[in-house]
Amino acid sequence: MEQDKKPYQFLYETYPWPEPGTERDCPYSGVPLQLNKKHPGYNGKPWTCPKCIHYFSEDDLDNPGKYKGLDCDYTLREKAESSAADPGE
Ligand SMILES: [Zn+2]
Repeated sequence: MEQDKKPYQFLYETYPWPEPGTERDCPYSGVPLQLNKKHPGYNGKPWTCPKCIHYFSEDDLDNPGKYKGLDCDYTLREKAESSAADPGE
């Protein structure tokens, strides 16, 4: 039987991928995102944040409201550390 199921291939081929050299910032931490090579393993998410280790699609970054008031693991940890800072210990 022919095996012609290629869900990953299909998925990533349909997502927009930015031109090399494009720069965007993480909606959580504001650090510059790393632009990944177009590869099925990224599931249509071209961007990785080196701090949060989050993957973002172009669509995600075009809707920063999705992230408003939310924290990733990295920003949560930073907040916990700054609020736990108690020099009197
Ligand atoms: Zn980030």
